[in-house]
Amino acid sequence: MDNQAQAVAKRLVRPEIAALVPYASARREVQGGEVWLNANESPWNNANVVGVNRYPDCQPESVRSAYATYSQLPSEQVLITRGADEGIDLLFRAFCRPGVDSVATCGPSYGMYAISAATNAVACRTLEWAEGYQLPSDFAEQVSDCKLVFVCNPNNPSGTVIAKERLIELAAQLPDSLLVVDEAYIEFCPELSMADAIAQCPNLVVLRTLSKAFALAGARCGFTLANNAIIQVLEKVIAPYPVPEPVAQLAAEALSPEGLKRMHTQVAQLNARRNSLALRLSCLPGVESVIPSQANFILFKVSLARACYDALVEQGLLIRAYSNPALANWLRISIGADSEIARVESALKAITKELTSKANNKIEKDTARIKAGAAAKETQL
Ligand SMILES: *Cc1c(COP(=O)(O)O)cnc(C)c1O
Repeated sequence: MDNQAQAVAKRLVRPEIAALVPYASARREVQGGEVWLNANESPWNNANVVGVNRYPDCQPESVRSAYATYSQLPSEQVLITRGADEGIDLLFRAFCRPGVDSVATCGPSYGMYAISAATNAVACRTLEWAEGYQLPSDFAEQVSDCKLVFVCNPNNPSGTVIAKERLIELAAQLPDSLLVVDEAYIEFCPELSMADAIAQCPNLVVLRTLSKAFALAGARCGFTLANNAIIQVLEKVIAPYPVPEPVAQLAAEALSPEGLKRMHTQVAQLNARRNSLALRLSCLPGVESVIPSQANFILFKVSLARACYDALVEQGLLIRAYSNPALANWLRISIGADSEIARVESALKAITKELTSKANNKIEKDTARIKAGAAAKETQL
């Protein structure tokens, strides 16, 4: 039966889907562990729930209007989605013709743009960042034929940011594209938000989420912000009841004045922790570079990154490593609770020390062996 079922699925699947590997999210990539600093979640659990015998509103007004107020936009420019990830997928389904249109982004960046492109049979062009994770000066010319252009700001996994003026300029340079600015981490640097540029940029789309600063990754709630004509197009392809009632309750609570106040307090704490951890990491032997981050994580370069990562996992300490060759020597740590950071930090210290001394021993041994070999050769002569 298993074989038969596999044969049926294999015979019927779209060929481009058959070739895909599912997105290796932090949660999927490694299970178990004790300290979870690999998925940029908040360390706080703020919630409570009830009431699910009726279908929910398609766009629960309490949530929509609360988010509109929070982002200082009219409600009609807000679409609630099942996480920002669904917002990405809706944009593909509504705006990109399979096998015809293409999209672009700068990488390394968030992996879902390429995955959503692939599942929708749309080509995704990933250009290289310019120095300091900035947009290349000729970016607009290189992507002007793309339907969607994704810019993650702050960028995951680097935590770097692009100036607002540059993004506004880019939107103007791309009249035939939607510029999609992914602001999953914008609460950590709210002054950079592009939400208030929607009024002047008709082709601008902003993606938001409650998964990071609002500490609701498990609720799956995100928002797409854009002018109402774009929102109306997306409403044609979204599922009939995309926001479960318990999620709507959690979201409304998170967006209440008390919820917002708590979020702001927690963001301030996380930013302070991030800044002090960045300083300490940069002093750690074995750490070669620390990218200045404006989000709730830090990307750092370390010799023998994979070995460090494996040794941490062995102790139940989960941070993020990358299969992308461009990030082979890099690790990303999410800013969690002080105690969690402390555990990873002290383990990291011990591991880099051990790995460095092992590497030095190996160099000494190799040198000794080469010398011994040369001496033996000399005596043979
Ligand atoms: C986490 C993340 C998302 C996904 O957010 P969800 O609302 O949980 O789907 C989107 N974009 C970026 C850059 C992220 O890091």
